[in-house]
Amino acid sequence: MDFDINNLLRENIKRLVPYSSARDEFKGEASIYLDANENSFGSPLPVAYNRYPDPMQWKLKQRIAEIKGVPAEHIFIGNGSDEVIDIMYRAFCNPGVDNVLICPPTYGMYEVSAHINDVSIKKVPLTSDFQLDIEGLELAVDEQTKLIFVCSPNNPTGNALNRNDIELLLNNFGGIVVIDEAYINFSRHRSFIQELTEYPNLVVMQTLSKAWGLAALRVGMAFTSTLIVDVMNKIKPPYNIGQASQALALEALQRVDEVNAWIRETVAERQKLSEELGRLAVVLAVYPSDANFLLVKTVDPRGIYRQLVDKGIIVRDRSRVELCEGCLRITVGTPEENRALLAVMEAIPLATAH
Ligand code: PMP
Repeated sequence: MDFDINNLLRENIKRLVPYSSARDEFKGEASIYLDANENSFGSPLPVAYNRYPDPMQWKLKQRIAEIKGVPAEHIFIGNGSDEVIDIMYRAFCNPGVDNVLICPPTYGMYEVSAHINDVSIKKVPLTSDFQLDIEGLELAVDEQTKLIFVCSPNNPTGNALNRNDIELLLNNFGGIVVIDEAYINFSRHRSFIQELTEYPNLVVMQTLSKAWGLAALRVGMAFTSTLIVDVMNKIKPPYNIGQASQALALEALQRVDEVNAWIRETVAERQKLSEELGRLAVVLAVYPSDANFLLVKTVDPRGIYRQLVDKGIIVRDRSRVELCEGCLRITVGTPEENRALLAVMEAIPLATAH
């Protein structure tokens, strides 16, 4: 398959002259900065936030590069993965003309972001065992298909997608395959992040919002070719990651061991919770999970959801989602939280649950 990014990029993006910020135009060290209309006196906080942050987040990228084994030039950082998704549309999809493929049930923002950008979505549902429908995808691709979003491990089903199927897409699709690996740290399966040199049409998304415990900082990552990173950098707002987020994320990224311990604990709790939920009268099935949540088929999802809310426990009702009929999506909590959840669910008699 010949891959040429120029055949995919929108013409306005190819022509785009990006905004050049004060921090882009002068990159060295100086003693007096009078170039960015900042408050020269300081900021009313213990830490000085009066200066604009590094628009390219180099320190953060260098630390991520060390951890992931991917050179910093191959990394794009977004204001959450959600910004990465939006930028992919803005770079490659002509509004009202191009389309993208998604495989529901999956993460909702691929579709919402498409609507925002006036890009049409073609849905190729997962098979009944929550895997890619490769034939369906092949049939759905047309001249205007620019992106395929695949989520592995998938939200809300929790399972990882078959590696061979994803490789098939990467090898045969002339557009870009975006693999959303938000939950990869909890998975038994290998990331695609080491395959970037193999596939010029691969974008791997990860995030600090899940295993890293930094959802409030809004730091999402894309790992891809330098060509695609360069395009994304042209499009993003100049200072898309605030200084507080950059500094705190950098600090957190020094503490890999702590995070790895939580990941091990979450995976152990996932196993325990899955077994214990499986024994409950109101539970019909607990699906295998490679993520930090479980998809659980119940006799009465709405009733159970309401009873949990009454006890102050919030889960996600996914029962109206195609292929997830009857299902709740339950995040793995601390051992104490999981015990509380189980206690409420245990006390729901089969008869009243209906
Ligand atoms: N991808 C998936 C599959 C998700 O489930 C989520 C969050 N629920 C995101 C991306 C968004 O992550 P972020 O916080 O980095 O925007």
